[in-house]
Amino acid sequence: MGTASELALLVRDRGPAVVLTGAGMSTESGIPDFRSASGIWADVDLFEVASIDAFRRDPLRVWRWYGPRIGGLLAAQPNAGHVALAALERAGHVRAVVTQNIDLLHTRAGSTAVIEVHGSIARFPCLACGAEETLEAILAQLETREAPFCSDCAEIVKPGVVMFGELLPADAMERAERLVRETGLLLVVGSSLQVWPVAGLPGDTVRAGGALAILNLEETPYDAEAEIVVRGPSASVLDEVARALDARAENA
Ligand code: NAD
Repeated sequence: MGTASELALLVRDRGPAVVLTGAGMSTESGIPDFRSASGIWADVDLFEVASIDAFRRDPLRVWRWYGPRIGGLLAAQPNAGHVALAALERAGHVRAVVTQNIDLLHTRAGSTAVIEVHGSIARFPCLACGAEETLEAILAQLETREAPFCSDCAEIVKPGVVMFGELLPADAMERAERLVRETGLLLVVGSSLQVWPVAGLPGDTVRAGGALAILNLEETPYDAEAEIVVRGPSASVLDEVARALDARAENA
C-alpha cells in the first residue's frame, strides 16, 4: 500500500492531475456514501426515490424524500480533503475535478474546474417546458410546500441530479472523457468505481498511457492497474498531499 507522501511525489512528477471523486470524498463531511450500512440510503428503495421512472410516476413521492435531503446536503461543510484539492488546483497540481457527487462541496471549497457528471442540486429543470429553477427559488418554495414547481408552467420540477435510468449530461461527460485521456495522472478518490459509465474513465487514462492513483478505504476493480493505491480517509490523506507539495502554505 502507498502512503500520502508517495502520492504527493506522483502528483508532482506526473501532474497536474485530473481528480475523479465519488461519495467517499464527502463521507467525512457527514454525507453517507452509496453503500453505507446506515443513513439515508439504507431505509429507502433507491428505485422508488431516485429513478426517473419513479419521478415520472409519482414526483410528489420523490420530493417527499428529496426535499429534506437537500437541506442536509447544504448543512454539510467541505472537509479538509475538498479544501486540499482546491489548494492543489490553485498551486497548479490539479487540472480539474470530475465528480460524481451532487453536493456542491468542491465548488464551495474553492475548486473552480469542477465537472459534475451526475449533475448537482444547483439547478432544477422542468421536464414539461424545459425551464429551470435555481436552488434559492427551490429552497424558498420548500418552506411552504413538499414539491416545488416550475414558475413558467406550474409542473413539478426535477432535481438536476442524474437519476437511475437517465443519461449523463453529454457535455460534462465529453469534457471528462477528454480530460482523463489527456492527463498524465488520474487520481480517483472515494469511489467504488462500480457506477457506469464513470467507472470506465480510469481505463481510458491507462489506455492513453497515463498513470492511475487510487485513494479509497476499500478495494476497487482498478487497484491492480494503479501505480499507487492509498488506503485511508480522503480528508487527511489529501491534506497531507497538499502539505507535502506546499500547496497549503502557498495559498494560506
Ligand atoms: P460509492 O458509495 O459506490 O463508493 C464510495 C467509496 O468510497 C467506497 O468504496 C468507500 O469504501 C469509499 N469511502 C467511503 N468513505 C471514504 C473516506 N472517508 N475516504 C476514502 N474512501 C472512502 O460511491 P460512488 O462510487 O461515488 O458511487 C455512488 C453514486 O451515488 C454516485 O453516482 C454519486 O453521484 C451518488 N452519491 C453522491 C453523494 C454525494 O453527492 N456526496 C453521496 C452518496 C451517493
